[in-house]
Amino acid sequence: MSALPLDGKSLAKEMESILKERVSFLAESFKHVPKLATILVGDDPSSATYVKMKALACQRVGMASVRVELPHNTTTEELLQKIHELNQDPLVHGILLQHPVPSHINERMAFEAIDINKDVDGVTCLGFGRMAMGEAAYGSATPAGIISLLEHYKIPLEGKHAVVVGRSAILGKPMALMLLQKNCTVTICHSKTLHLEKFIAEADILVGAVGIPHFIKSKWIKTGAVVIDAGYHPGGIGDIENTKLSSIASAYTPVPGGVGPMTISTLIRQSIESGETQIKSLKTL
Ligand code: NAP
Repeated sequence: MSALPLDGKSLAKEMESILKERVSFLAESFKHVPKLATILVGDDPSSATYVKMKALACQRVGMASVRVELPHNTTTEELLQKIHELNQDPLVHGILLQHPVPSHINERMAFEAIDINKDVDGVTCLGFGRMAMGEAAYGSATPAGIISLLEHYKIPLEGKHAVVVGRSAILGKPMALMLLQKNCTVTICHSKTLHLEKFIAEADILVGAVGIPHFIKSKWIKTGAVVIDAGYHPGGIGDIENTKLSSIASAYTPVPGGVGPMTISTLIRQSIESGETQIKSLKTL
């Protein structure tokens, strides 16, 4: 068997060309473009790269963006104040606080401070809760991007056993809930799971979101499984060992070029949707 690569890079490019038209329409009709504010606290090089990539994506589709860079010793109160200012700014339509923030900051409190209408990465409890209940909400960009990729390639989800390895608030948990909404039967595994290999061997759809390079071994994976690697590590390494994957899986996301580009284009799409809503409502006031 030769597995189908789920090409997130190409799909993200296609999405961007459509998004560019939506931004042009807003610029022509409403004389405004959506604006995403990114907040980076500290000097973690990977986070700095992610923020830069998001700003470049804004540029490619014609959106505005503002990068707020705060020093490592920023306090929770100072960060909350900055978020509050961005909440009040009518020209900012989406706010992204780059995870993780330095450990002395109360990250949950900072996420919760983001105005729900500007929570384009689904990080607030309210946004997460709405998504979990199947109500309108911006989902966390990485799992939402994975769902778009699976749907684009018409991967059957209903009735399938999906195994998500990882339960972080931004990735594993929302991924599991989104797959549940697509009528998968979902198992969530984490660092305290016993007999992890047994669960992985039962997965029709496997999502690796562990944060350890090549942690999931290809020999654990069932023949014909759909394999989604959300991990990303320096040197373009994912969380799933990819040797022999193309002869084991029925479809898989390459690393790089699978999940990463979909995360960015999903964040941009959700920022544009938020911009459309806010810009059009200003016009009708
Ligand atoms: P995280 O917050 O560190 O969460 C890792 C999860 O993996 C935790 O739930 C943890 O379990 C679980 N885990 C750790 N060791 C394990 C083990 N031995 N067996 C089973 N589960 C284990 O990481 P994250 O933010 O979710 O990110 C996960 C990966 O996705 C990273 O590689 C990250 O770089 C990548 N990522 C990629 C994108 C993208 O755009 N492509 C976006 C976000 C993240 P516990 O809860 O029990 O600790």
